[in-house]
Amino acid sequence: MSSRIGLFGGTFDPPHVGHLVTAVNVRHELGLDEVVLMVANVPWQKSASRRITDAEGRLAMVRAAVADVDGLSAGDLEVRRGGDSYTADTLAELADRHPRADLFTIVGDDAAAKLTTWERYGEVAERSSLVVVDRPGTPVELPAGFEWIRVEVPHLDVSSTDLRARFADGRPLDYLVTEPVLEVIHRLGLYGVAA
Ligand code: ATP
Ligand code: MG
Repeated sequence: MSSRIGLFGGTFDPPHVGHLVTAVNVRHELGLDEVVLMVANVPWQKSASRRITDAEGRLAMVRAAVADVDGLSAGDLEVRRGGDSYTADTLAELADRHPRADLFTIVGDDAAAKLTTWERYGEVAERSSLVVVDRPGTPVELPAGFEWIRVEVPHLDVSSTDLRARFADGRPLDYLVTEPVLEVIHRLGLYGVAA
């Protein structure tokens, strides 16, 4: 049986409601069987500029985030592969595991704008349909020469960067991340001062 699988990659440091609302709405709109929140092992475009929570901790948070959600799963292929994470490699691995599946690469528009900086981005566009959702902020121009499927999702002005700063200040993350994610943050002692 063929299936439709969405690959939603990210650093997820931490995973928040913006990620979850995007994943469930894209799944619904495009009739996907599953959306995989794929945790980047080394997000090489970010790791030079800031300290990233170790991959196991981010994977634990994503697992907690999707545990009770139908059709969402936490992806560990990139963490298991190790090294820098490239979506092209992940799509190849997914295609091997699910030879008859239609694959969809899901990105927010900030990430979509940078598609041509990705390793082997041509391969990403060949192996999958490209799906983009708007994110609050300045609208960005999507790289030309690709076919983009636009999906409307509720605009939630939430970013992991802002949430990390809030938590470190002692401000609450309730409702911005789900309760089980907050529990993992406390249990692992992530992001500095606990509220
Ligand atoms: P950071 O601030 O650390 O970059 P982030 O909130 O942007 O974190 P990422 O892990 O970088 O989260 O994002 C993974 C994917 O989720 C990207 O495609 C990004 O565009 C998308 N995304 C993140 N936040 C939202 C949001 N609020 N609404 C829609 N898409 C989002
Ligand atoms: Mg980001």
